[in-house]
Amino acid sequence: MNKNKSFGDMHAEEFRKYGYELIDWVANYLENVASFPVLPNIKPGDVKAHLPLSAPRIGESIDTMIADVDKIIMPGTTHWQHPNFMAYFNSTASGPGILAELLSAAFNVNAMVWKSAPASTELEETVLNWFRELMNLPKEFRGIIYDTASVSSMHAIASARESVEYDIRKKGMSGAPKLKLYCSEHAHSSIEKGSLTLGIGLDGIRKIPVDLEFRMIPSELENAIKEDRANGFLPFCVVATIGTTSTTSVDPVDRIAAICENEKIWLHVDGAHAGVTAMLPEMNNHFKGLERADSFVVNPHKWLFVPVDLSILFTRKPEVLKQAFSLVAEYLKTAEDSVVENYMDYGIQLGRRFRSLKLWFVLRYFGVEGLQARLREHIRLGQLFAKWIEEHAQFELLAPTPFSTICFRAKPDGWNENKLNELNEKLLNEINSTGKLFITHTKLNDKFTLRLCISGIRTEEEHVKLAWEVIQNIFRKLIDSYS
Ligand SMILES: *Cc1c(COP(=O)(O)O)cnc(C)c1O
Repeated sequence: MNKNKSFGDMHAEEFRKYGYELIDWVANYLENVASFPVLPNIKPGDVKAHLPLSAPRIGESIDTMIADVDKIIMPGTTHWQHPNFMAYFNSTASGPGILAELLSAAFNVNAMVWKSAPASTELEETVLNWFRELMNLPKEFRGIIYDTASVSSMHAIASARESVEYDIRKKGMSGAPKLKLYCSEHAHSSIEKGSLTLGIGLDGIRKIPVDLEFRMIPSELENAIKEDRANGFLPFCVVATIGTTSTTSVDPVDRIAAICENEKIWLHVDGAHAGVTAMLPEMNNHFKGLERADSFVVNPHKWLFVPVDLSILFTRKPEVLKQAFSLVAEYLKTAEDSVVENYMDYGIQLGRRFRSLKLWFVLRYFGVEGLQARLREHIRLGQLFAKWIEEHAQFELLAPTPFSTICFRAKPDGWNENKLNELNEKLLNEINSTGKLFITHTKLNDKFTLRLCISGIRTEEEHVKLAWEVIQNIFRKLIDSYS
C-alpha cells in the first residue's frame, strides 16, 4: 500500500525512496538498452489486454506500478534509445536532457507570461540566442520554442499569411485573396497540415518538381509563381527544406531566397532534422542563403539528444508572428508587459512547459565542441555505410547522402523493377523482425527504398557494422530462397 492520505501529495520520504529507485531503473535501462529487441514482438492490442478497463478505486503503491512498467510497458516499447534504432529520423534522449526533464516537472511552472515564470522566459530567450549563434543566423532573428516542427511550421505559415495585404486577423479567410503556398514534392506533410489548419486548403498548395537529386528546381518555382499570379492567386509563402524527410536532400535556399525577395514572398526553411548541422563549418554549403529566410525551424529533439519534445522556430519578423497571435485577456495583463516577453503572445497555446531547461542542460553538458564531435561522427558513419553500399555489387544507392541518412536497395543482376520492389520490401520486414535493427523505407521514383538513419547518441561504428551484417545475411538468405 502507499502512504497516501485523503489529501495532500506523496510524502517526501516516499518520494525520495522511489526517486532513487527510479533513477537506478533508468540508469540500468540506458546501460542495457542494446540488449532489448529494437522492435517489440507484439500484435496490436497486446498491451491493452494487460491493462484494467477502469482506474483503481483505491491508491496503489509505486512498487506495483514499477513492476507493471517491467511487465506491460517494456515488452510493448519500441526502443528509440537503442543504438540500432536507425528508422525515421531517430531521436535519442541524453542523460543531461532526461535529468532536466525531471527538474522541469518538479518546478511545473506555466510560462504563459514573464511573471508566471521569469526564469523559464529569460532562460528561453538566452538559450535561443546561443542557438541562433550556433546556426549562424543574423542577430535580428528571434527564437521561440514549440513542441514539434509541425507546430513551428504552422506558426511560420501563419506569419506568412499575416504578412499579406488583407486583414485576415480581423476578417478571417472567407473573403480573403486566394493564397498559394509553394514547397517541393519532397516537403514534409506537416507543411500541408499547417496549411490545412490555416484555411489555405490543399488547392492552395503547389508542389514544385525536384531535380535528379530530389532538390526543388528554382526555375520551376519561378514559373509557377508567375502562372498563379496570372490566374488570380496570391503567392504568399515558399517552404524550402534542408534535409528532406525521404532523402535529406537540400533545396537551393540561396536561389529560392532570391526569388522570394523579388516576389515579396515569405520564405520558411524546414531544417527539422538536418538543421542542427549548421553548427558544423564544413556543412555551411548546405545552408547558403538561410540568413535571407524569414523563418527557420530546427528540432533539437531530433538530432541533438534533447528528449522529445522541443522544436525551435527562428524568425526575423517576430513582430508579425506576434501580430498574428497576440490577444491579451484582462486577467493576463501585467505591469511588466512593455518590458518583457510574454511567450503566450507568439502562438496558439497559452500554457507552456519549461522546455528550455533541457536544451540548456544538453548544451552545457556536452558543450558546442562535444555536440559537433557527435554530429561529425554520425556523418562519418553515414558516409562509411554509403561507401559499403556503393562497393557491393548487388546493392545500390538511390539518393546522394549529404548527411547520415542512406537511401539504398538490394539490386541483384537481371531482376525487373517489380521483383526488386517485392524483394526489398521482404528484406525490410525480415530485417526488422530480427529485433537487432530497425530501419524504415520510402519510395523514390517508384522504387521501394530502404532508408537507414544514423543520428542516435549511442550509435557507434560497431552498431553500423552490425546493421550491415544483418542486412547482408538476410539478403543472401532471401536470394537463396528465390533460386
Ligand atoms: C520530422 C520532420 C518534421 C516533423 O517534425 P515533428 O517535430 O515531428 O512535427 C518536419 N519536417 C521535416 C523535414 C522533418 O524531418
